[in-house]
Amino acid sequence: MTAAVRCDGVVQIYKTRDLEIVALRDVDLVIAQGETVALLGPSGAGKSTLMWLMAGLLRPSAGRLRINGTDVSRLSPGALDRMRAADIGVVLQNPGRNLIPYATAAQNVAFAQRAARTDRRRAAALLDRVGLGGMRRRAGAMSGGEQQRLAVAVALANAPRLLLADEPTSQLDDDSGRAVIGLIEQAAEENGTTVVVVTHDAAVSRALGRTITIRDGKVGAEGRHGEEFVVVGREGGVQLPPEFHELLPPGSMARVEALPDGVALRRAES
Ligand code: ADP
Repeated sequence: MTAAVRCDGVVQIYKTRDLEIVALRDVDLVIAQGETVALLGPSGAGKSTLMWLMAGLLRPSAGRLRINGTDVSRLSPGALDRMRAADIGVVLQNPGRNLIPYATAAQNVAFAQRAARTDRRRAAALLDRVGLGGMRRRAGAMSGGEQQRLAVAVALANAPRLLLADEPTSQLDDDSGRAVIGLIEQAAEENGTTVVVVTHDAAVSRALGRTITIRDGKVGAEGRHGEEFVVVGREGGVQLPPEFHELLPPGSMARVEALPDGVALRRAES
């Protein structure tokens, strides 16, 4: 089956006036259709950059990124816009940026449905699920938490094949956070939506099937059902998790010893 997301050696470099910042280096990643993934990692690791690439808002500096089988680097800006409107729901980090400030909650959802047939029942059900069924205020006059809940409803308005959300619960209390997580899980279960969420919220990562930890612009670790694994990269490299840096500090030398089911690294005395 075609993967929802496939990154092959993706590199992202930001060029500022006097500096080049390598935000992602050689990211290899496959996310299957219908998978639900939490993107974890420290601030500045490259999570939002990866999200922006998957949303088609950036094009990779090098490497290949395919979304639902389509190589995004080869799409014209118009074709990319059409793909985004039809297939991808995006919740950006600043919730206000996802919304039309002078439109009501219902109008925002209806506008997001423009690429497909407007479905009032679906729109009303989405707003109910995030506790905004009776909301009459314009989006620009809502609180940050209300805007965040509305942004998730807007992103799901079209039943997208891929939902990308950057910290969608950061401004929510526990109850609202649970409502948003429930809505995202429902989208995956009922519509087969592939979900990728950048999050620092443990409740969100627990609810999703797979975690991917980005460190220093690379896939550092993967988690399945609460257990963390390092990932062996294309040249055989692994990122040791920070909690092992005291035992094997970066730059130290180690002996590699074969075990029946893997290898052990032992610090070499220098
Ligand atoms: P995260 O989401 O994990 O916090 P980001 O993807 O936002 O990480 O950032 C990765 C790196 O790229 C950081 O060093 C950040 O400063 C840099 N960066 C992000 N966006 C830009 C930009 N528009 N211009 C220049 N550098 C950027």
